[in-house]
Amino acid sequence: MSFQSRFAWPARCAAALLAAAGLYTAWTQQTPADPPLTVEKIAEDLHVIVGAGGNIGVLTTDEGVILIDDKFDRNVEGILEKVKSISSKPIRYVLNTHLHGDHTGGNARIASLTGAVLFAHANARALMVEKKMPGLQNVTFNDRASIHLGGKTIEAYYFGRSHTNGDVVYYFPDHKVIHTGDMFAVGGPFIDYSSGGSGRDFVRTLAKALELNFETVIPGHGGPVLKKSDLAAFRGELADAEAQIGKLIREGKPKDQARTLLRTADFRMCCKSALWERAIPGLWDELSR
Ligand SMILES: [Zn+2]
Repeated sequence: MSFQSRFAWPARCAAALLAAAGLYTAWTQQTPADPPLTVEKIAEDLHVIVGAGGNIGVLTTDEGVILIDDKFDRNVEGILEKVKSISSKPIRYVLNTHLHGDHTGGNARIASLTGAVLFAHANARALMVEKKMPGLQNVTFNDRASIHLGGKTIEAYYFGRSHTNGDVVYYFPDHKVIHTGDMFAVGGPFIDYSSGGSGRDFVRTLAKALELNFETVIPGHGGPVLKKSDLAAFRGELADAEAQIGKLIREGKPKDQARTLLRTADFRMCCKSALWERAIPGLWDELSR
């Protein structure tokens, strides 16, 4: 996976933020630059659809299919085709990791085509209502929920604010896998302060996610599927970057020099993307309070 493709997600997320601002045409029109959708297999009954937009987790059961996220509206045909190549059963649930349009864009059409139940954290749905986004969820939760289908279970956890104020970690206990949404995206994170994100809480939220008993991580964007040690590195590096910013603030350094003063060259997972750089001023303000 090249540097370029690993860092392809910020442009997508930027599109999602534009979408959240109401510019829906930006993601209903075909973008020629869209990478093709590909399927990565984790287990016989657990796959990831990678490509444009957020990564889709696909759990198949004898009674139907559960999707974690559903990219952009323009990807719906491609998603349905990929799901059909994995299972002949109908999609029964779409579980969203958070509100952004590159993770919820397929909600409205997939629900109307398949009758699937849409599910998310209560804060994510509230933000979608506020931002007048389509594809509102039917079911929400606050702290912890379990989704059962065909003898299989996915656990939904809310550990606190991070990328937004409504990011869910979905845990597949039989596979020891989690799907983090944009709480973990290589080169990030982006902290969406307009959607209740918090850099200060981010590190604590990641620490709680790391307490789950898992080995494999499906990140919010891009491939390949990563390991628990990668998420631990991401958390450690974000904590390091925040400690550096805190020190610069205490030394009275000016905010506009934060980007050049931060030392992240030896970081492996975190803090190397345009959207991360866009998050720095907000993070500086948050850490100054
Ligand atoms: Zn996002």
